[in-house]
Amino acid sequence: MDYTLAQFLAHAIALEREAAERYLELADMMEAHRNDEVASLFRDMVRYSRLHHDSIVERAQGVSLPTLGPWDYAWRQPPEAGGEEAFDPTLNAYDALRYARENELRAMQYYSDAGITSSDEEVKRLAAEFAAEETEHVQALDDWLARTKRPSAPWAADPHRER
Ligand code: ZN
Repeated sequence: MDYTLAQFLAHAIALEREAAERYLELADMMEAHRNDEVASLFRDMVRYSRLHHDSIVERAQGVSLPTLGPWDYAWRQPPEAGGEEAFDPTLNAYDALRYARENELRAMQYYSDAGITSSDEEVKRLAAEFAAEETEHVQALDDWLARTKRPSAPWAADPHRER
């Protein structure tokens, strides 16, 4: 998409807001599972997303932002959530991290595509900066995944299990 600066900023604000909301849900869920370590990682992610959101809002001062139409930027649910609105409350730390990583990767690709396809120099510059930031998030989640035990119970691997 050949975004104008205003379009790009509006989408980036929506993307970061979505990320903050989803991370807050994941953090609460991990807390309910008594997994304080992963909960605090997700709370850090909430903070980063909010900081990023706020700095984009600040960058958008004086820019008249378009109202976004329907946009496919909700986070994708993990398969075991069955496409419902809510997360699967039984989501374990490993799957929660993997799920967050998938969505961070999408954000990274989104920003990087926006930068490549836009002909606006400022969009290119900001998109490259944001994509680099998302790359760091993907790496942080990779580090955690490497340290987190993959669920070994056979039912945990089966997304179609009965509940
Ligand atoms: Zn991110």
